[in-house]
Amino acid sequence: MDVTRILEGLNDAQRSAVTAPLAPLLVIAGAGSGKTRVLTHRAAWLIDVEGVSPQRLLAVTFTNKAAAEMRGRIESLLGMPVNHLWIGTFHGLAHRLLRRHWREAGLPQNFQIIDSDDQQRLIKRLLKNLELDESRWVPREIQYFINAQKDEGLRPQHIDDDNDPQRRQLIALYKGYQEMCERGGLVDFAELLLRAHELWRDDPALLAHYQARFRHLLVDEFQDTNAIQYAWLRLLAGRDGIPFAVGDDDQSIYRWRGARVEHIYRFQKDFPQATVVKLEQNYRSTATILNAANAVIAHNNSRMGKNLWTDGAHGEPVRVYSAYNERDEADFVVGRLKDWSEQGNPRADAAVLYRSNAQSRVLEEALINAGLPYRVYGGLRFFERAEIKDALAYLRLIANRDDDSSFERVINRPTRGIGARSVESIRAYARANSCSMWRAAGAIASDELGGRGASSILAFMTLIERMARETQHLELHYQVDHAIQASGLIEFFRKEKGERGETKIENLEELVSAARGFNADPAEEMSVLDAFLSHAALEAGEGQADAWEDCVQLMTMHSAKGLEFPLVFLCGMEDGLFPHQRSIADPSGLEEERRLCYVGITRAKRTLYVTHAEQRRLHGMDSFSQPSRFIAEIPDELVEEVRPRVHVSRPVHTVNRPRGRASGSISPGAELGIRLGQRVRHGKFGDGVILNCEGQGAHARVEVNFETAGTKWLVLGYANLDLM
Ligand code: ATP
Ligand code: MG
Repeated sequence: MDVTRILEGLNDAQRSAVTAPLAPLLVIAGAGSGKTRVLTHRAAWLIDVEGVSPQRLLAVTFTNKAAAEMRGRIESLLGMPVNHLWIGTFHGLAHRLLRRHWREAGLPQNFQIIDSDDQQRLIKRLLKNLELDESRWVPREIQYFINAQKDEGLRPQHIDDDNDPQRRQLIALYKGYQEMCERGGLVDFAELLLRAHELWRDDPALLAHYQARFRHLLVDEFQDTNAIQYAWLRLLAGRDGIPFAVGDDDQSIYRWRGARVEHIYRFQKDFPQATVVKLEQNYRSTATILNAANAVIAHNNSRMGKNLWTDGAHGEPVRVYSAYNERDEADFVVGRLKDWSEQGNPRADAAVLYRSNAQSRVLEEALINAGLPYRVYGGLRFFERAEIKDALAYLRLIANRDDDSSFERVINRPTRGIGARSVESIRAYARANSCSMWRAAGAIASDELGGRGASSILAFMTLIERMARETQHLELHYQVDHAIQASGLIEFFRKEKGERGETKIENLEELVSAARGFNADPAEEMSVLDAFLSHAALEAGEGQADAWEDCVQLMTMHSAKGLEFPLVFLCGMEDGLFPHQRSIADPSGLEEERRLCYVGITRAKRTLYVTHAEQRRLHGMDSFSQPSRFIAEIPDELVEEVRPRVHVSRPVHTVNRPRGRASGSISPGAELGIRLGQRVRHGKFGDGVILNCEGQGAHARVEVNFETAGTKWLVLGYANLDLM
């Protein structure tokens, strides 16, 4: 027993939480005040001092990365490895439970997890089956509806249609979708939680078993639990369970996924004897960063209100950089990252955070050009790349022939002469006979004297059967290797010209390495292949390849929750992007964006950069925007504006001046030969006349009246105008 080691490095309030009597407890505290630390120490305290068996602890965190870190910290506090300790995300834990009790949960043993993409594909197919128009019944919206119902714990029969025909149709679609999932043995993310909840709710004996086992429920990021997660915890806690929850109402950022900060109040009602502990000292950030965060979040009305302070140094000012466009922004960030790295700092200590995944591409390009290794968490996920999903679909079919979404994905990929009409008739047969597409294909191919179509279908099915047979006894990575070869995928991408095909082949080869490095948890009762496929679905994006290389971290502000870095960049701080356009007009939406900003700022320990661009091309569209209102909410005295470096090269070469002609003489823009009334030609917009001109050098912009495309503002540096 090592009490001092466990209590070392805790302040009084933290200590009181860690050593609290064995009764429900809630810690509500601001960012960086040691909530996660308290949770970790509590686990060690229970095991080491209270003598609780690790088996009796269940710890829930928000990401798999956080779960791995927590396990590591508990083990180092205890000075020994702890087996049989369940730590994971809600989804991961629910999945583990369903694997153990697939029969009781009404699932086939080899059920597969489907992600958001698969889910949409199923919905699209359902719409086709029902001959519903996708423009009226938007798949994304239906998906949102279904997931939202599941997050609330509702099955179709529980939902009231309010006598609204539109709603009635949505409910029917939910029902149809669920039937497709059942037939294919498919489980989506929301279903994992709902099933796990129903499993316990409907099987009192099983519930009693788990209640007796898990007495201590440790929950991090409690403010972001949704209804079904809370209900699941509540069930498990029963009368005698001892929940220990930590959270921060100011960091509730998943309302759009059904999270309800109200659960903090609910908790106090459900466990009236619970002690509430507040932590007010921040140990993470400099006073400047903390004050900036406090000032921003103070603009929100609906808060529990907290007082967060630090006795740390003032530190550096928050640096704001106004870029003229997204490429300039990326160059700036990369320049600073290079300095950071050259000063001998670990690259992994630097994080570049953004509001939306699509922003990463330009940053990635700049990092690649600069030769700085980086890793993207979330977003461009390895397991979500098309070629990887193709390969996984073959593996999934090998594991489960009834997996319709995989069947559809690869029946004609690589192309093997099975056209849309054949697939349609398989679909129709499956629908009419309520069977999987695999069975339907078998029936059609053998039944009909269907010539080429039928023989191609048969050949495909034989291929899958043969692959299943041949890989049966192979080690996982040989299975994967065999699948990508025998399926013809490698050959298929080899024919794809140029770099794209090559990258895909590299990715497929990477999948083999991922399989080689994969360690199935022996406690999980499933085949290694099933375990690998579940891992691919659950951990997409987290812990990508080359996990040991020191690299800059890129991620959305959402995925940065709970993490901390000495150096942080918040990019794309523009109204419309952050706060997001959708939320600007909606006060509660705006408050959620502000909480997200608070999360972003409080990730920084020492140095914080905030950047915004005057012009941005995103999703193929150009827009001009104002700096985010959140920047203005940071008190002036904490901010320092970064001036572009003098040697920022002015992109003169992009104006193609005809040879031998004198330039005009009206500034600004004069040095580039631009004057009002000048005729110009643009690659896309055609011919036009310059109406207006503003800014200098690289910032210079012109307003051009194009003959056919109308009036546009363009940044000279990038517009590639020809003077005529
Ligand atoms: P978030 O709200 O962002 O999840 P948190 O409240 O969970 O933050 P932690 O991540 O647990 O905060 O702690 C923030 C940082 O402060 C960590 O680096 C942690 O090690 C450190 N820390 C916490 N408590 C103390 C303490 N008493 N003494 C020294 N350092 C501490
Ligand atoms: Mg935390």
